[in-house]
Amino acid sequence: MDHRGTKRGAEKTEVAEPRNKLPRPAPSLPTDPALYSGPFPFYRRPSELGCFSLDAQRQYHGDARALRYYSPPPTNGPGPNFDLRDGYPDRYQPRDEEVQERLDHLLCWLLEHRGRLEGGPGWLAEAIVTWRGHLTKLLTTPYERQEGWQLAASRFQGTLYLSEVETPNARAQRLARPPLLRELMYMGYKFEQYMCADKPGSSPDPSGEVNTNVAFCSVLRSRLGSHPLLFSGEVDCTDPQTPSTQPPTCYVELKTSKEMHSPGQWRSFYRHKLLKWWAQSFLPGVPTVVAGFRNPEGFVSSLKTFPTMKMFDYVRNDRDGWNPSVCMNFCAAFLSFAQSTVVQDDPRLVHLFSWEPGGPVTVSVHRDAPYAFLPIWYVEAMTQDFPSPPKTPSPK
Ligand code: GDP
Ligand code: MG
Repeated sequence: MDHRGTKRGAEKTEVAEPRNKLPRPAPSLPTDPALYSGPFPFYRRPSELGCFSLDAQRQYHGDARALRYYSPPPTNGPGPNFDLRDGYPDRYQPRDEEVQERLDHLLCWLLEHRGRLEGGPGWLAEAIVTWRGHLTKLLTTPYERQEGWQLAASRFQGTLYLSEVETPNARAQRLARPPLLRELMYMGYKFEQYMCADKPGSSPDPSGEVNTNVAFCSVLRSRLGSHPLLFSGEVDCTDPQTPSTQPPTCYVELKTSKEMHSPGQWRSFYRHKLLKWWAQSFLPGVPTVVAGFRNPEGFVSSLKTFPTMKMFDYVRNDRDGWNPSVCMNFCAAFLSFAQSTVVQDDPRLVHLFSWEPGGPVTVSVHRDAPYAFLPIWYVEAMTQDFPSPPKTPSPK
């Protein structure tokens, strides 16, 4: 395995000319969109390797029990009139956001399936393992002006694992989240309940509780440029009306957004929200995003389907729009930067990549708590079937 230095040189890394006797400056990666506007890089059509579910108690199950079925209101009828505030807060069981799950559920799936991964023996040792949501943040970084991020990286048995760390800013904002924002978050989940059924062919039941511990996650394989990827993302539902299509093509992402009235409001929606929607669904190959537009009273009265592959059309001719090539080229450059920075294979060693809007991605190095994120149960199980050479008996 040659992850070290020469082959995977970081693209566009600011590295000063070698100077005698001077310490090498800490490497960093710039994020300006203008630096990444080349042709669209290779991105392998994502294929689903498997899935898992988290139940109402946030317990892992290696099956699709939490998958729901797309069940929109009849198109010939009166149209939707969903009260997204119904059930708040009395029928709301929000997930405990203090629990830092890191990559644990994905590692649980990987441990179970490591022996029969497609791609052949050695595929995993060359791959990057992470959540889809982390890759979404990388894709949108060149255009992000509000929120920074931190990604912890560890190499173990060749594989590079990436796990997000909540920034101090993000934590402070979460703990001080205004009541109206809390209710808005609920409304997004409530929309899913109005649009999804528990079984194919049945109807949604909005009388129940909204429990955000429950999740269905798809595990996908792809490749960006030279980087094999194994990542997982939460999927809202599958469309049973497209029975011949296989995952991830049958999946539908559900979103809510403010009702818009002026061309300026639509333009801003295309520039900012559609970028995030595109990045999130393009990565796993989810072809369809269905938006519910809510009025100021919190009712959804109109739906609009956005095919993922048509989203760029809305900003193609906009000077202040986004470009998918920039997003993907930056992500590829970051992955090369991370691969060439994290040289040592050690599950207790963490390279922390930090980014704040307006600046470059920087790196710091840490060992063990609080940044190490590969759990001991994972490291031990993986080490047992990856034995180090037998120890020579000590001379007596
Ligand atoms: P997304 O694309 O941001 O929704 O994230 P993913 O689909 O990659 O989700 C990966 C895992 O993280 C799933 O188990 C989600 O339920 C969970 N998750 C998603 N968003 C959040 C969040 O804001 N906070 C925490 N702690 N977990 C989240
Ligand atoms: Mg959604």
